Amino acid sequence: MTGVEHVDVLIIGAGLSGIGAACQLRRSCRSKTFAVVEARDAIGGTWDLFRYPGVRSDSDMFTLGFSFRPWSSAKAIADGPAIREYIRDTAREYDLESTIRFGHRVVRASWSSAEARWTVEAERTDTGEVVQLSCSFLFSCTGYYRYDQGHEPPFAGQDEFTGRIVHPQHWPDDLDYAGRRVVVIGSGATAVTLVPAMADQAAHVTMVQRSPSYVLSLPSVDVIADRLRRMLPANAAHSVIRWKNVLLMTLIYQLSKRAPSVMRRLLRKGAAARLPDGYALDTHFNPRYDPWDQRLCFVPDGDLFKAVRGGRASIVTGEIERFISTGLRMTSGQELDADVVITATGLRLLVLGGVQLTVDGVPVDLPGTVAYKGLMISGVPNLALAVGYTNASWTLKCDLIVKYVCRLLNHMDDHGYRVVMPQPPTSGSLRPLIDLQSGYILRSIDQLPKQGSAAPWRVYQNYLRDVYLLRRGPVEDAGVRFGREPVLAAPPPVTDQST
Ligand SMILES: Cc1cc2nc3c(=O)[nH]c(=O)nc-3n(C[C@H](O)[C@H](O)[C@H](O)COP(=O)(O)OP(=O)(O)OC[C@H]3O[C@@H](n4cnc5c(N)ncnc54)[C@H](O)[C@@H]3O)c2cc1C
Repeated sequence: MTGVEHVDVLIIGAGLSGIGAACQLRRSCRSKTFAVVEARDAIGGTWDLFRYPGVRSDSDMFTLGFSFRPWSSAKAIADGPAIREYIRDTAREYDLESTIRFGHRVVRASWSSAEARWTVEAERTDTGEVVQLSCSFLFSCTGYYRYDQGHEPPFAGQDEFTGRIVHPQHWPDDLDYAGRRVVVIGSGATAVTLVPAMADQAAHVTMVQRSPSYVLSLPSVDVIADRLRRMLPANAAHSVIRWKNVLLMTLIYQLSKRAPSVMRRLLRKGAAARLPDGYALDTHFNPRYDPWDQRLCFVPDGDLFKAVRGGRASIVTGEIERFISTGLRMTSGQELDADVVITATGLRLLVLGGVQLTVDGVPVDLPGTVAYKGLMISGVPNLALAVGYTNASWTLKCDLIVKYVCRLLNHMDDHGYRVVMPQPPTSGSLRPLIDLQSGYILRSIDQLPKQGSAAPWRVYQNYLRDVYLLRRGPVEDAGVRFGREPVLAAPPPVTDQST
């Protein structure tokens, strides 16, 4: 193919994962040429897009940050701008800016077995012009949700409301809520962040939730981490703190899964200690489901509880009947006056950044594929996806994935392989890729690849297992085929052996 720029590795996305992937290529695959294609005009992904008041991580930055670049700020739970700066500084330190094509949205990627390469089509967001690039290996670091649209379920009577309705994904610069009555619809991470942050200036903030979530208070400053940072060199301290936090989060998750009633009691006790006596705890903070059946909400230094306790915020649990001109009416008949309503109703899942894949002219049907090691998909050659954890910091898994991809690329070079293609399992049952009952997952689970019942097709969502699988486990196993010649035989069809 003439006239089309070729790189060894093409990374899609310049968020935490894409920048992490590019740094890792610089560190461990020095001979590889690469480029990053980014739809937006900025580095940072999530941490550049979301601008609502108080936007922050709910993971600690020792695990959400990169393993190779210590997090040095005082706060372990950081605000959005600090995370954005950290990602940008990392990109600068690794001299990545010149490798990033901003304003290029990848729409299609076509694998040719005859050429052993991907041809990638990207639309320029300013002119609409379609640009082609080719690569030997495609690395999708596109995150997991749509950037152009959040999940915005329609409510009856929205047009009658005389105030302003805002979705947190598109926060308007000119929204002045000082002294106004604010209603936040939602009970997830975004809602519990927004409520205390807006309560500082608003006349009052009411969080309206259909059903409660588990809310756990964590210290925003990690005193053990601070002590370790004073005692050890930066890299050593970062590594020890990271492991400490991995083990703590693993403990919370495992306790939730193995002894849900114990965890439920602990969470209830933690909330009760921070709320006023006689507060309707079971109505507002005691979910029907077990801890970690859906994502746990973390709040730094109990800020949500403080806002409720201080009377600046309140929680209403129930069904919204409709918007009315002055606010919201609940099915209970209660009316909530509002000048501003924030619909923190969630994200819309999007796999592979919406890129259409074809392999030798045949469109890839993602739900008909099986994930391999949680990072490649059956029947699709020379492609990896950075998909992080849903029960721990996203970056922990992505960090293992990018290191694994470098290991894989080096292994292929050492053995003269040009093609790597995961195979679906030939036995065992297939199941949904993500075992989480959160709304944003359930709404889109049918669009995702499946997972198998055992490694290397099982996605365990467990860092310790993944360290073993991705760092120590063999690169060549029953789940993958390598080829020195460009053309690989088509994989066997995916069948669910359990049916
Ligand atoms: C408000 C909020 C708070 C969060 N807090 C946490 C947290 O505390 N801990 C945690 O673990 N996770 C958290 N997450 C999840 C979070 O998204 C990840 O932690 C992490 O930022 C994802 O990084 P990423 O690079 O994989 O994806 P993203 O940050 O989504 O970046 C993807 C990039 O790819 C680009 N892109 C997508 N499709 C295309 C395409 N077709 N062509 C070109 N470019 C494309 C996007 O423009 C974007 O820049 C949070 C998410 C949100 C929305």
